[in-house]
Amino acid sequence: QAKLQGRNRHSYFTSDMQVAAQNRLQLTNELRVAIEEKQFSLVYQPIVELSTGFIHKAEALIRWQHPKRGAISPIEFIPIAEITGLIVEIGDWVFYEACNQVKCWRNILAHNFQISINKSPVQFTHKRQGFKEWFDFLRELDLPGESIVIEITEGLVLNADASIKNLLMKYSEANIGISLDDFGTGYSSLTYLKKYDIDYIKIDRSFISNISSGSEDLTLCETMIEMAHKLGIKVIAEGIETEEQLELLISAGCDYGQGYWFSKPLAPKEFENYFMKRNKNFIDSTH
Ligand code: C2E
Ligand code: MG
Ligand code: MG
Ligand code: MG
Repeated sequence: QAKLQGRNRHSYFTSDMQVAAQNRLQLTNELRVAIEEKQFSLVYQPIVELSTGFIHKAEALIRWQHPKRGAISPIEFIPIAEITGLIVEIGDWVFYEACNQVKCWRNILAHNFQISINKSPVQFTHKRQGFKEWFDFLRELDLPGESIVIEITEGLVLNADASIKNLLMKYSEANIGISLDDFGTGYSSLTYLKKYDIDYIKIDRSFISNISSGSEDLTLCETMIEMAHKLGIKVIAEGIETEEQLELLISAGCDYGQGYWFSKPLAPKEFENYFMKRNKNFIDSTH
């Protein structure tokens, strides 16, 4: 009896793992098709300058419209793309697409428009880091480096080897911005902040969601903002959902805000409409 149970449990366990492995294998194959069949698109979430309300930045976020399964979240497929290395090809596509968009928006929206793109650590450690290809593409479009910000994670800078350090330095030399995503969630060591030319930190949504007057999370946000400013780094708050959160962050001196309170990520045409509506009170004097 016990033996039978054991065997059943065992086979149940294996079949669970088989299902997971099959799912992953299927997603992997489908990701390959998705690249070829152009099932990806980018949406753009406004990043608002809190002192003025002006918008001249956005974060590009990938979307996958699967022909049968519908929309699949990047939270689901980016990890698989990372494991299989497909993230390199997908990441190149994201970069080229975002460059074309920022080229257009610098012409029709704001001359200093800037788009942030997420770059996975796997793209940095892959043998083809792709700096030359990306840089050539910027030149081809006649785009200055400051049109682009690369969002990286704390883990990358913490474990950076010489080749990653070198690549980050090349970005800085090319005036491509560097932003630390999900800041505050990973590590307590902050020495890397002065070792690299970091332009922005993005305070993680988990801090923003619980800030209220007098809360510990507000104290943490204030401290991160003060520290960043002393190091000459600008601060972006992620995931602002309420007016109260926004007011507290403005009082704390936060530079930029992003979140559903302003807007969810938008398709390009929707973004242009949102931009026109929000920015109509501003005369872009430098235009
Ligand atoms: P992330 O870079 O931290 O992006 C912010 C995520 O928070 C986005 O989710 C965005 O839609 C969501 N968000 C923004 N405002 C709010 C808010 O007020 N409340 C809540 N609850 N969520 C908000 P999304 O688009 O699902 O992307 C998830 C993650 O997938 C990203 O986190 C990023 O790590 C990754 N990702 C997305 N696009 C790319 C890409 O092109 N390349 C790479 N390597 N990773 C990407
Ligand atoms: Mg990001
Ligand atoms: Mg810089
Ligand atoms: Mg983030």
